[in-house]
This record gives sequence, C-alpha cells and structure tokens, in this order.
Amino acid sequence: MSRIRVILLNAALGPLDYRLPHGMVAGPGSIVLAPLGPRQLAGVVWEPERAETQEVGDNRLRPLIQVYDLPPVAEPLRRLIEWTADYYLAPLAAVLRMTLASASALDGARSVTEYRPTGHVPERLTPQRAQALERIEGRQGLVRELALAADVSDGVIRGLVKAGAVEAVEVSIDDPFPRPDPQHAPPQLEDAQKAAARELVLAVQEAEFAPFLLDGVTGSGKTEVYFEAIAESLRMGSQTLVLLPEIALTEPFLKRFAARFGCEPVAWHSGLRQSQRRRAWRAVATGQAKVVVGARSALFLPYRQLGLIVVDEAHEVSFKQEDGVQYHARDVAVMRAKLERVPVVLASATPALETRHMAEIGVYRELKLPDRYGAAELPEIRAVDLLQDPPPRGRWLAPSLVREIEVNLNAGEQSLLFLNRRGYAPLTLCRACGHRFQCPNCTAWMVEHRLVHRLACHHCGHLMPPPRACPECEEVDSLVPVGPGVERIADEVKALFPDARTAIVTSDTIWSPAKAAEFVGRMEAGAIDIVVGTQLVTKGYHFPNLTLVGVVDADLGLSGGDLRAAERSFQQISQVSGRAGRGEKPGRVLVQTHEPQAPVISALISGDAEGFYEAETDSRREAAMPPFGRLAGIIVSSEDLAEATEAARLIGRTAPRVENMAVFGPAPAPLAMLRGRHRQRLLVHAARSLPVQDIIREWLDALEHPRGVRVAVDVDPYSFL
Ligand code: ADP
Ligand code: ZN
Repeated sequence: MSRIRVILLNAALGPLDYRLPHGMVAGPGSIVLAPLGPRQLAGVVWEPERAETQEVGDNRLRPLIQVYDLPPVAEPLRRLIEWTADYYLAPLAAVLRMTLASASALDGARSVTEYRPTGHVPERLTPQRAQALERIEGRQGLVRELALAADVSDGVIRGLVKAGAVEAVEVSIDDPFPRPDPQHAPPQLEDAQKAAARELVLAVQEAEFAPFLLDGVTGSGKTEVYFEAIAESLRMGSQTLVLLPEIALTEPFLKRFAARFGCEPVAWHSGLRQSQRRRAWRAVATGQAKVVVGARSALFLPYRQLGLIVVDEAHEVSFKQEDGVQYHARDVAVMRAKLERVPVVLASATPALETRHMAEIGVYRELKLPDRYGAAELPEIRAVDLLQDPPPRGRWLAPSLVREIEVNLNAGEQSLLFLNRRGYAPLTLCRACGHRFQCPNCTAWMVEHRLVHRLACHHCGHLMPPPRACPECEEVDSLVPVGPGVERIADEVKALFPDARTAIVTSDTIWSPAKAAEFVGRMEAGAIDIVVGTQLVTKGYHFPNLTLVGVVDADLGLSGGDLRAAERSFQQISQVSGRAGRGEKPGRVLVQTHEPQAPVISALISGDAEGFYEAETDSRREAAMPPFGRLAGIIVSSEDLAEATEAARLIGRTAPRVENMAVFGPAPAPLAMLRGRHRQRLLVHAARSLPVQDIIREWLDALEHPRGVRVAVDVDPYSFL
C-alpha cells in the first residue's frame, strides 16, 4: 500500500492523501491528476512531513488517476513555494498555481485548434457579428479568446465559424524555440562595463548563490553588462530568467536581445494566448527554453536547469503583486536564487532603499557604472518654480518649459512631458451645484477619458458615458474638468503647437506589447515630436533624439505621504530624466514644482542621490520602518459595512500583546470602499527579529467571521490605501 500526499490546485483545500496504484510511479514533485469528489484536479506530490493533512484510513484512500509525463517540480522550487506561502501567509495551492500556470500544458497534445477570420462577410450580419469581425481582425486564438477580445459571447464566434467568416487552424505547440547564440554579436565593452561583466561571468561559472546589485546611471549600459552573464549561462547550457516590471517593456527588450543573441528569448506574460503559454511552459519545464523574459509571474515557472536570474529595473513597485498572493517578485527572486544556488542580478539606476541597504551591509555585492555609455552625458536638471513662472490660467505648462519645447521643435529633436495621471482630468464637477462624480463602487472620483468619451474609475474599471446634464441639479452642460491628466496636457500642447506630432503614452494607449512596439517604431522613425506620458514612459526606453524632458507636476507624488512617497518621487523623476540625452546630443530636464526647496527636488537638481538616500535611511532607521523594522497590513472587507467594521474590531480586540510589536487600527482604509466592498485596515509594526508571520497566523486563524468577510494580510506592504 503506498500512500502519497498531494497538493491540488485548489486554494481552499489543504494537502490530501491518495493511494498510488500498483505500477504507477510518483515521487515528491511529480505532477499528477487526482480525483476530488466527482471532479479531477491537477496537483503535485509533496513530502508528507512538510504538508500536514487530516488522517484518513488506508482503506478510504482514493487512487491517483494519472502521473503526467513531465519533469517533476524540483526540490528547490518546492521549497520556494513553501517559503512564499509561509512568508506571505498564502495557501500553498495558490502559490503552486503560479508554477503550473498552464493547465493545458500538462497533457502531451502536439497541437491545438485555433480560429481566425477568413475575410468573408456573412450574409446575415447582426450588429454583434459586425462588432466581432471588426475587433478580431488580424487575431487568432481559441473561441473563448476571440470572444473576449470582441466582447461578445462564444456563441457569436461559433456562429461566425458556421457562416464561414471564421475558420479553424491547427497550431503546433511543440515546436522548439530557437536557441540564442552567445557568440552572435558581442559588444565591445567599456572598462567599467568589462569589470562588472567579469564579476558576473565568474559568478555564473561558480554556480552558487550570489546576489548582485548592478547600480548604473540611466544609459550606462547595464543591459549589455548582464547580457554577458546571460551569454555565459548559455555557454554552460543552463537557463536564465529575466524579470521585467512591465509588459510594455518586453517588446523593445526582445528586439535588443535578438540583436545580441541572434534570436528572441521566450516571452512569458499575461498577454500570451493559451497556445503560446503552453508552448512556453513546456519548453521551460523541459529545459529547452534557454532564456525566459517575463513579468513577475515567470518567477514561479518550473525551470529545469536554472543558472541565472536577472531582475531589471529592480526598484519598480510593480514587482509587488497587489492581489491574490501578495508577494514581491524582487524579494522572491533573491530567495529563489538562494534555494537554486545561482547568482541573481538586481539592475537599477535608482535602487530601492532596501536594496541599497543590503549592499551597504555587504550582503549584496555592488557593481557600479557611474557614467553613461559612450559620449552621452547625464542631462542637466533645472527646477521651474511655478510661483515665479506660473502658466496662464487654465494651463499647466510654464512659459519657460513652453519655450524649451519650441526650441526642440525647431531643432527637430523630441520632447517628453511626464505627468503620472491617466485620462483628461482627475475630477469632474458640476459648475452649478458642485456635484462631483464619484464611482458607485469605490471611494474614488470618476476620471474623464476624452479619447474614449467615458468617465472611468481607475480602481474597479467602472465606466459611464459623460452625462450632458448634472444628475444632481439637472443643469445642462455644466460639467467642468478639474486638474490635468495626460490627455489634457496633450490638448494644451496641440493648442500651443498645432503642427507638432504628439503621442499620448499611458496604459490606455499602450496596452499590449504590439502597441508598445508600434510606439517605439514611430519614435525611432522620428514620426513623433512630443510625447505626453505617465510612468509607463519613464523606464527602459532608449530614444537618442529625445533631448528634453518636462516634469509637469513634481509635487504630485509627495502628497500621498506614505512611507516611500519621497523615495518614489525621487526614483520616478530620475528615471524620466534618464530618458533625456541618451545619444550624442545633450539632454535637459525641467521640473515644475511649487517647492523647489523640498529635499527631493533639491537632491535631483544637485544630483546628490547619496545625500538624499542617507537622510531617508536615517529617518527610516529612527522610526524602525523597513528595512529596519517590519510592517504588515491587515485588510478586512465585506459588502456589508457593519460586518466589515465588526470583524475588524474583533481582530483589533484580540491582537496579541507581544514585546516589540504594535498594532494600529482598525480604521477605515483610505480607499474605504473598493469594488463594492467596505474596507477597514490594521497595521502591524514589529521588530525585524520577531517571527511576525507566525504571530499573525496564529492570531487570525483563531477567529471566526461571517461568510461575507474577507481578511487579507499584506506582508511588507507597498500600498497603504
Ligand atoms: P541602461 O540600461 O543602463 O539605462 P542601456 O543598457 O540601455 O543602459 O544602454 C544605453 C545605450 O548604450 C543602448 O543603446 C546600448 O545599446 C548602448 N550601449 C551600452 N553599452 C554598449 C557597448 N559596450 N557597445 C555598444 N553600445 C552600447
Ligand atoms: Zn470604482
């Protein structure tokens, strides 16, 4: 009788015991199919001593159905999954799901059937069919995927198949990926680059855990440096994972990688079709995919033979996942490197305070690139004091910034205006009665998006057409936008320079790698004069002819007042400044502010990053804030206000008294309502030495709440909303 323990892909279940039928072979890590009630679920065999279950008698065990013909989930990854679940207080199955991220990849099928439009227009063209045909033009995918893209039901797509307007195609999902060639086109490195690359190459050869901070100013050629480490990993036959913070960055990265290594790496992100996911997943699991570039979810994939991890733009806050398993991909990447015993490189021009601290105390090895590559110089940064040099009424660009844009236009050079606000205006109100448009589901204003003629909630996605009359006082045409978003700045630019070619770059306009590629292509071809963009344009991009950056509102990020507000502003403005003057022509940066004396602004202007970080670090140390102390948020929510409040109070009342730990709250969250749920927050602040997760787990597990209540714990929180 052989009993085995399995973790199924169902977060509501703990580990379960099964019987291994005679002749079936499965050990820890084996990927299996098991019965659960009337259903069948995939899962992974786990070590019995690591995963507790309820005792079930041998005679009541159900047999496993199947062991998949796939390499088992290796021990270091199993330990990583456990560590992540423990550290972030998440169910094992929820973490494991990220490893088995393509359920359909498990069975061994060689091809899938996808569908694509034929170009034939059916005789009966209902409005829905017309909409579908318009939106799926040039696309291919499963019926479900096309239906989603077209925003119609599956039935509409199937109807189009019958009518001959959409046809089936067999797609092979087993084709191997091309193999990047480390010798393809190696660059001639500069001395500082050479020195840094040499250390990384050695570490790859040693094949031991070695964390690096690759700290180089924007445009210093960090990518070329870690490419050398990737080349070495390729020579050794091992796999490399490169994490990027934003799917919009993958496309330019793929191109650049191909120029260096002769072919593109394997991409992994949420935009992949099911067939692409499954091809990539299998190639990762078998070791055939040598270099994988992905968003944070690529971190948990079952690499067969990992040799190196790179986290590019490692300071980016988007590495923190804010729902489901609330992990920080940068931190988990370091842990994975430790468990897999491989080097990990955190690359950034503006490393997070936490990362700098690790370098200072000698845990991470710091590799510095102090200068830009080639003849390029760092741009000159100047403040525009909005009190001295104010824009005219109803406008947001100061006269001195406008003059510089004009200079750039005349010189045929490109300019970038940065404002981290999507849409036209952050707030819409009625001139007659003062009514403000609020989201019905969230504590948030509806944001006007003129490009699509909608008011949108940026938290839940709620949309409504802008009404002609005020819903409160019924006054017609009385609604006025308050404050600027990127669309409004773009309007201002058009009014000032009617002939200039402008582009708006936000997640509303660049929602896919293809869109990003299109934007990059137009920039490179010189088809855009002025870009108006959100944080999406601050990172990664390299446009040699972009020589002017205007920061429209440098004070914006400071108003939130959370732990990292000043640091984040500093990083964001440094990064966006870093887009200027990356080629032969020098760059300049104008920062509009009401407070030119504020520490963040003066540090940016004087270029004194060290001084700024020292002061920030001191104040965090004094307050025992991260990385010197620990925080954990507890978010209690329910559709029922009283229920949420009561549950949060119960949690507050039962908070354990532990030395060196304090619990604040509960209090209504700043985002008091989100997606129709009322939210209360508590904040745990503890000394680093405390096993705070264990304390929280024991505390919360002992409590019972009504069914509608959800309690989420956010360990090392980045958002305090
Ligand atoms: P960073 O990532 O540090 O901001 P990049 O790696 O994007 O900088 O490099 C900036 C630019 O300089 C890129 O266009 C890159 O191709 C170029 N570059 C950097 N190092 C070299 C090199 N050794 N040889 C040729 N071009 C280089
Ligand atoms: Zn909302």
